[in-house]
Amino acid sequence: MIRRAPWLVAVLLALCVSSAVVADVAADLAGLLAKGRYDEVIAAATQELEKTDPPDKQLVYLRGMAAFYIQWYGVAQKDMSSLGDYAPWEKWPPASDFAGRVVRIKAVAPANVDEIRRGKTCLFRIYYDENNEWSQAIAATLRETYAEVCGLYGAELAETSVFIFSDGARYNEFFRLGSGSPPTDWQWAAGAGGALLFCQYDADGSQPVPPGSAYMRSSIAHEFSHCLVRRYLGTTRIPPWLDEGLATCCGALLVPEDLARNDLQVAAIVRLGQMLPLSVMAESRGFYSNDNAKTAYPQGFAMVRFMADQIGRDGLLKLLQLLRDEGDLDKALDKGWQTNSTAVYEAWHDGMLRLLQEGKLGP
Ligand SMILES: [Zn+2]
Repeated sequence: MIRRAPWLVAVLLALCVSSAVVADVAADLAGLLAKGRYDEVIAAATQELEKTDPPDKQLVYLRGMAAFYIQWYGVAQKDMSSLGDYAPWEKWPPASDFAGRVVRIKAVAPANVDEIRRGKTCLFRIYYDENNEWSQAIAATLRETYAEVCGLYGAELAETSVFIFSDGARYNEFFRLGSGSPPTDWQWAAGAGGALLFCQYDADGSQPVPPGSAYMRSSIAHEFSHCLVRRYLGTTRIPPWLDEGLATCCGALLVPEDLARNDLQVAAIVRLGQMLPLSVMAESRGFYSNDNAKTAYPQGFAMVRFMADQIGRDGLLKLLQLLRDEGDLDKALDKGWQTNSTAVYEAWHDGMLRLLQEGKLGP
């Protein structure tokens, strides 16, 4: 009979327990990953990986995947290229797929790198083609953007990647490789999740956005709001009027003149009877169509300002939290205020018409 050494049993038991715990953590993180909560996956996986030696492959993979989708390509490449063809579960793509995609993305990404830090924390990792007045103007606005936008949302945001292109063709290709489709129109600025994208020149080589202009500054804060909201909500849907309205409010934090301009635009929309119905404001297809966009943006801005007047900044933050918890705007409005988006829309719409009738609309 072989007598098992008690210490060996203890070690084997400990190994079983710890691998079961890691498997539980990995399953939880896979759930969070499916919800698009990438920041949480990266933070939790990193914390767990400090306890496992050698590194647990499931956790490395999950962190690499979250990093890929949040566009932290350096982390994604490091994690995924260390795993070869490993996949944590059946039907999940092998790590080498992600490593290969990062190589293709990096081939078209701007080559120069800079950072904006606060103490030891990197707030923005900036990749740029050219160090010129235009790229410098964007970099110069980022710190103020972070302070204002994170201040409004009462949030801290881990590193955001910033890609500043000079070349429109490479910008389009980078956009396509990251999101699966090219930008629909010439879209010089974009923000989603962990990345801000900017392109100095459009397809015909002109530079429509002057460096340091109010439009450039408000657009940077606008796009950063999209990053923050998307990272907070994950895959939870937010109707475009609310997302764009919040983003435009963030733009106005850097360019307060946008508020007076919005008053003028909305007064014109109401006078001309051009207010878009909620069904259009709530659907991306309607909101972003060329016919509607000119009206939809100022109207979304006005609707969010109207809500802010009613429930204040704290109410808006509570709304986002409820939206994340409940997964649906109407459920969130019902839970917080026993109302729904139709009632909110009608209150705004009817309020505008009343102002028009009373001759109090706009300046
Ligand atoms: Zn936007």
